[in-house]
Amino acid sequence: MSIIVAKFGGTSLATAERIKRVAQRLVDYHQQGNKVVAVVSAMGKSTDDLLRLAKSVNAQPPARELDMLLATGEQVSMSIVAMAVEALGVSAVSMTGGQVGIVTSAKHNRATISEIRADRLFDILDQDKIAIVAGFQGVTVEGDITTLGRGGSDTTAVALAAAIQADICEIYTDVDGVYTADPRVVPRARKIDEISYEEMLEMAASGAGVLQMRSMEFARNYGVIVHCRSAFTNNPGTLVKEATMESAIISGIVHDSSEAKITIRSVPDQVGIAAKVFGAIAQANINIDMIVQNISEHGTTDISFTSPINDLVRLRPVLDKAIEGLGARGYLIDESIAKVSLIGAGMKSNPGVAAKMFSVLADNGVNISMISTSAIRVSVVIDGDQTELATRSLHTAFGLDSDDVFEETQLSSEELQAKMAKGR
Ligand code: ASP
Ligand code: MG
Repeated sequence: MSIIVAKFGGTSLATAERIKRVAQRLVDYHQQGNKVVAVVSAMGKSTDDLLRLAKSVNAQPPARELDMLLATGEQVSMSIVAMAVEALGVSAVSMTGGQVGIVTSAKHNRATISEIRADRLFDILDQDKIAIVAGFQGVTVEGDITTLGRGGSDTTAVALAAAIQADICEIYTDVDGVYTADPRVVPRARKIDEISYEEMLEMAASGAGVLQMRSMEFARNYGVIVHCRSAFTNNPGTLVKEATMESAIISGIVHDSSEAKITIRSVPDQVGIAAKVFGAIAQANINIDMIVQNISEHGTTDISFTSPINDLVRLRPVLDKAIEGLGARGYLIDESIAKVSLIGAGMKSNPGVAAKMFSVLADNGVNISMISTSAIRVSVVIDGDQTELATRSLHTAFGLDSDDVFEETQLSSEELQAKMAKGR
């Protein structure tokens, strides 16, 4: 007997037909003698629909009310899946985040889990029932509903798996697993059979859309083995776990077009300027990624950094205010950039990866405008139009190409669109 937590993404729950297939999978696991907890996302794109509805009545919906609304998407899924399981003759109990004991901070729209009181969940499993849990949501100590940030159902699943010491946390999605690169951009991308937590974390942080980053932090911290796989086949996907094998030099290439490059021009080269600018941005809770400060020539310097395009609306007023009185010549925003990252734990013991990356890009006429590195990652910012050229040539140069060419026809156009939306 195993304890299995299985999370299903929106695409795998998009229609009644698909929900029945999910229910069948859960019942099969149950009949094999396992204790089964399902974590469900909202059906299809319903979270986006709810967001749009909110924005149609208020351009900046109050965070608390938005959580009240968004949490309903997962509630629809959990009850419908429970009904579908019952229709197959097995008892199921659906539970909201609050009911399953997920206590979070009060930071609405991006709450963090502080505690899981899983007693009730254990009772349900002991009664031989399948538990169906609404992903993406929790409750504050005061009893207010919160959500965990977009893609947060992954975090619910991994956190629950940690809390009940599940043997495995399966993440069912619309792709076969984690690939060496986005197969739509690099047709010779390969599915990765096994990857370490630290590499998966870097991939998620670099913009790989498959698994939410926060869920991978949980997985690493609590040693939860995650199996990311397709809801539409029975093929094994990608296992995320502690590294066991000798690491590949490069495990994957991730590209991300969701960020913009911001350059603050001619800032006086004085102590405390960077602290002032980035302090204000941090205060506004806006993420920034790469930062480059140029060498100053005439007592002024340019500061460039990247930030999500989605945050630009909030960033602009913050910047306007921060550079006021600094004497800077204003700022430029370039939304047409892409960030390309090479990730691999084997980099640590193999010098020269960055140099090889830069020369491959140079040979292909790709200009690099920013660079950042970690122990197991090298990222560059390039012109967005050269994303395909850059990722494909790097994929080949680092020996990642598969003999098979990925066929897009494996995915329906709806699934493709969902993938693209995630990748953006
Ligand atoms: N339904 C939420 C979202 O679309 C949570 C999730 O899917 O994980 O972001
Ligand atoms: Mg999702």
